Amino acid sequence: MRITELRLHPIAVADPPLRSSYGRHAPYALRTVVELKSTDGLTGFSETYGGEKPLAALAAARARVEGMDPFQLLSLKLDMTAEADRAATEAAARSQMWLVPGENPLDEATRTYAAIEVACLDLIGKALNKPLCDVVGGRCRDEVAFSAYLFYKHAGGGGLGEDAREDEYGEVLDPEAMVGEARGFIAKYGFREIKLKGGVLEPELEIETIRLLRREFGPTVPLRIDPNCAWSIETSLRVARELKDELSGGGYLEDPCPGLEGMAELRRRMLAEGIETPLASNVVTTCFAHVPLAARMDAVQIVLSDPHYWGGIRSLQYLSHLCEVLGLGVSMHSNNHLGVSLMTMAHAAAAAPRISYACDTHYPWQTERDEIVAGGRIPFVNGCVRIPDRPGLGVELDYDQIARLTERYHKLPYRKRDDEAEMRQHVDPNWKRVLPRW
Ligand SMILES: [Mg+2]
Repeated sequence: MRITELRLHPIAVADPPLRSSYGRHAPYALRTVVELKSTDGLTGFSETYGGEKPLAALAAARARVEGMDPFQLLSLKLDMTAEADRAATEAAARSQMWLVPGENPLDEATRTYAAIEVACLDLIGKALNKPLCDVVGGRCRDEVAFSAYLFYKHAGGGGLGEDAREDEYGEVLDPEAMVGEARGFIAKYGFREIKLKGGVLEPELEIETIRLLRREFGPTVPLRIDPNCAWSIETSLRVARELKDELSGGGYLEDPCPGLEGMAELRRRMLAEGIETPLASNVVTTCFAHVPLAARMDAVQIVLSDPHYWGGIRSLQYLSHLCEVLGLGVSMHSNNHLGVSLMTMAHAAAAAPRISYACDTHYPWQTERDEIVAGGRIPFVNGCVRIPDRPGLGVELDYDQIARLTERYHKLPYRKRDDEAEMRQHVDPNWKRVLPRW
């Protein structure tokens, strides 16, 4: 089997005005769908970051990919990422503190490779009539748990004008409203773990939010909070102290303060006070070179994996193993995504045994009107996605939907994510991301 064609579909997906320390989400998130056609008449696909740069990087890989045997992933990986991996080892202390995932130039090659790898594995699964996780060595679970990924948000359901989506949760800018959002998420999807995106309100209000969530759902629903480096070491320590009980029992504190050294200092001070809440990160651990460094410094106890920027599904298996050896936990990070990415994350988690936390997902923030998977939205049952008994990723594409979303992409004036610009436009003309803010 050979790949005959690499096809790229840039798409725009309606997205509510979700808040984080980066700013505010734009009315449409950008994604790219990658299609690989084969000499066997099969099509493999994947979904990845959107906008101009990711699209150009994928287009640049076309000459290398067309004509290749999709089973020969190792040589493709060496060709595409070896140089970047060496550079990453030299710059191991780099972080993506200031960059949204998908915009870090240092992992561009890894992201591009990942999108091709997943599409090749989908092709291989289809050629062998096996689910994707079974062609990379088999699975440790048949269903993958996801978390209720809660965001403070402004009013609005995403999209613009006649294309606006219904606003299911309304404005959520205080602790009580957040409990309402959480109730909706849990009633609808059955999630059994909660992640709160923080770094938006005053830390006292976010502490209060976590306390109300604990009161509402009880200690059997683990809680985690991720302010994306918005807090100083002092503030992080205060939050860790105040939420010592609420973040225990399977919860964690994710990227509370900036930098590896900052996280390590926070950890030392937490342990000195007997606070053992683990620190998780998708900011100071974004590549393999970071992992032993973060472990040695005890800056991170839980690494957030993500097949989209860690280098695909097989890389997540390596990461799972490395973290096991180093005694680190593994969870999974998410960006805005549709059903193809959701299935990629599910297969990746099914094949990576060290992942023991419910994975993050933005999926509930998107709607049926934006789904690119044929047959519509992928269901969560008790908060889990089941690995389907179908070849490859287990889903097919809805080409009419892709055409609609591509048309919308071409009408948009922006070609990259810019959450600060959204804040300046809608909230405060002088808004700037400041780290730490509190
Ligand atoms: Mg994070």
